[in-house]
Amino acid sequence: MVQFKNIFTGNETRDYKRATTSQKSVRAGGKHNDLDSVGYDVRHHTFFEMLGNFSFGDYFKEEAINYAWEVVTKEFDIPKDRLAVTVYHTDEVARNIWRKVSGLPEDRIINIATKDNFWQMGDTGPCGYCSEIFFDHGEQVWGGLPGTPEEDGDRWIEIWNLVFDEFEDLPDGSRIELKQKCIDTGMGLERISAILQGVHSNFETDMFQHLIKAIADIANTDPNGPLQASHNVIADHLRAISFLIADGVLPSNEGRGYVLRRIMRRAMRHAYMLGVKEPMIYKLLPVLQQEMGEAYPELYTRETLIKETIEIEEERFGRTLDKGLHLLDEEIAKLPSGAKLSGETAFRLYDTYGFPLDLTQDALKNKKIEVDVDGFNVCMEKQKAEARKNWAGSGDEGVEKVWYGIKDKCGATEFLGYNTLKADGEIKALVQDGQEVDAVTAGKFELVANQTPFYAERGGQVGDIGTIISKNFKAEVYDTKRKLDTVFVHCCKMIEGEAKVDEFANFEVNKENLQRDDFLSQLYTLDRCPWYTLPV
Ligand code: ATP
Ligand code: MG
Repeated sequence: MVQFKNIFTGNETRDYKRATTSQKSVRAGGKHNDLDSVGYDVRHHTFFEMLGNFSFGDYFKEEAINYAWEVVTKEFDIPKDRLAVTVYHTDEVARNIWRKVSGLPEDRIINIATKDNFWQMGDTGPCGYCSEIFFDHGEQVWGGLPGTPEEDGDRWIEIWNLVFDEFEDLPDGSRIELKQKCIDTGMGLERISAILQGVHSNFETDMFQHLIKAIADIANTDPNGPLQASHNVIADHLRAISFLIADGVLPSNEGRGYVLRRIMRRAMRHAYMLGVKEPMIYKLLPVLQQEMGEAYPELYTRETLIKETIEIEEERFGRTLDKGLHLLDEEIAKLPSGAKLSGETAFRLYDTYGFPLDLTQDALKNKKIEVDVDGFNVCMEKQKAEARKNWAGSGDEGVEKVWYGIKDKCGATEFLGYNTLKADGEIKALVQDGQEVDAVTAGKFELVANQTPFYAERGGQVGDIGTIISKNFKAEVYDTKRKLDTVFVHCCKMIEGEAKVDEFANFEVNKENLQRDDFLSQLYTLDRCPWYTLPV
């Protein structure tokens, strides 16, 4: 629903009040992170397709529940006795509607008091109570109804979440009511496909089976044997990797690029477990294109980019993967039973061999060994402090020092400019005359946001120019610079109003003045996100 956020909050209006969507979703970082589960249960992916219907101040709870029940029981013909629904424990309205609409027995309309039934997009933004629909895959599968101790099993699987957006969380921690009540629903295509194809696992559906067969053919393995999970992981990760790259994300050590790198390296370790020591994942792209290329033409238009990016990363990491795994084996052999892997070892694997922490954790999962994550973080902090000390001695202090603090506080800026020239961002820091400030009312200043479509050149060249506008101010961006490699700094001139930290604003690049190199402008000319919305 991120793309509709401003419509929900009333900051933007469109000429339609209802929409349906089929959209790509990645859950491998941030608030919704399913990476650890992928490959080990039947229902979580790093990348999946979410189907949804939306109302912007049009229909609300009653209609949304009616529509969902009709689709599930009439269109999909799923028998009622295999369904259960949840409601937020105080949401009597939803409970009563479900009673009336579904006729489900009381014990199949389950009150949930946790955040599972209170949906939040992120720390800020629209939110509200939600109601989820679950399907029973049968008593032969371990698991229980939502709210029971066995709820995490794969028997009762959530297929559809109906969110009744009534509130908005603001950056100052307060919660206000939305001016208009909205509906936002999400159904996982892979989960509903499994049900409609009469199989239990998403990985048993046709599209995954084709990918898994291709993996088993290359590796010469039995996809249903003891290494089944590794086949599933690679099939899953191939999709996430390919779509992220197609959307302009490239592997790097921070931000989205690191989410991608983690997924890629995790997939590579599983390929290694299948006994494949040479790059193989890039070879699977044609099978993915066959399965999904018709719906997602970017798999073809960005074929070279996807293939080469994967192959290069496979080659690069392949050189250290083997050595790192040997080191890991040696360290495990030394561990007394029940002990954790030390933070120092996990950090050495990270720093010297390029093992993301979750790859090490994944490698130890089957052996039921944990990693001392606190110890790992201490090592990481130590290294950062060391880098800072070295940098501080390099001469160019003064004004620049401010950026170290900002980088520590705000992290890397997410660059959105491969796909869009206009986007919302949250102002994370403001700098005027070399000092960090909370607000700016006039003159020249620098602005850092959590994300931006503005491209920041390194080393003296001109970055993107354009405007930043919010309800409270308007500023001209006359240059965009990069500090400490990953902090994108908008060099601004205030036109009117007051800009404040933590405020949301709209960032728009001036198209006429794009100064980016060929590679970027090439990506630019390709159509952007055509998969978002289909007004009804
Ligand atoms: P779960 O509790 O199973 O992780 P969720 O509550 O996190 O699900 P929602 O955030 O409500 O899921 O997302 C809406 C729908 O998207 C879910 O009902 C499910 O069908 C699908 N979905 C969510 N996460 C995943 C995932 N990682 N892989 C595949 N489908 C998913
Ligand atoms: Mg989840």
